[in-house]
Amino acid sequence: MELYNNIIRRVGELTEGLQAKRFACRPSAAWPDAGAFELVMGRDAAWELGGDGKPAVNFTCVTSSPELVKEDEILTFGPDISALPPSAPFARISLLRVGDIESDEDDTEQAFRAIQNMDFVKYRIFPKGYMIRTSSENHREQVRISREAVKNGISFERIGNSFLNKYKEDDNILAAKVLFITAPNADYAELLKCARQVSKITLGLTKILEGMSTDCTTCQLKPICDEVEGMKELHFGKQKHTTE
Ligand code: SF4
Repeated sequence: MELYNNIIRRVGELTEGLQAKRFACRPSAAWPDAGAFELVMGRDAAWELGGDGKPAVNFTCVTSSPELVKEDEILTFGPDISALPPSAPFARISLLRVGDIESDEDDTEQAFRAIQNMDFVKYRIFPKGYMIRTSSENHREQVRISREAVKNGISFERIGNSFLNKYKEDDNILAAKVLFITAPNADYAELLKCARQVSKITLGLTKILEGMSTDCTTCQLKPICDEVEGMKELHFGKQKHTTE
């Protein structure tokens, strides 16, 4: 799975030079989960990540490269929650390593469906006092954090461990990296471009799985395929498999 590799590399370039901190995976450090969506009212909120119209970028990339996603870890770029102003720009990016799914022909379709579902973890995680509001259409993930959660020591390390625990429930995920970016000088516009590109690739995969035509000259996905390394090979590999 190499389709998202260039985007992962781009994320590396965009975070280079930002004030960074790394936390190893510690499952027991996960922030308590409310078990269901919990409303944090504006009057109870200490902070709003992506509030006041500020950037709030979110996307997930999948790769089979151990170089790009070596191990489970949490990375922060910029101030942690307790040091943030009341509204701050924000990005959360998940980079997930999976097995070499393309070589496993029998399970290819199932594996691609699984990849599409990995991003849905954000709909199944409910950290207490950390209200996530997402918009897939705009690639946004805005977060409202309660005063009580701040008082009780919420941090990106703890939220990151909540995400890691959730990802590790999925047998397809061999390693996961969760990035939280709050640095005021981060290039959120470029990160948003990455999010849009991820979306285009995932749309392309969906179409290929739906059994679209194999005539590149008339295909509406041609601009994506021309841009994304491995997309054409993936389609024709899949076609070969389904017609032989
Ligand atoms: S390889 Fe790409 S452009 Fe060609 S038919 Fe498949 S999806 Fe369309």
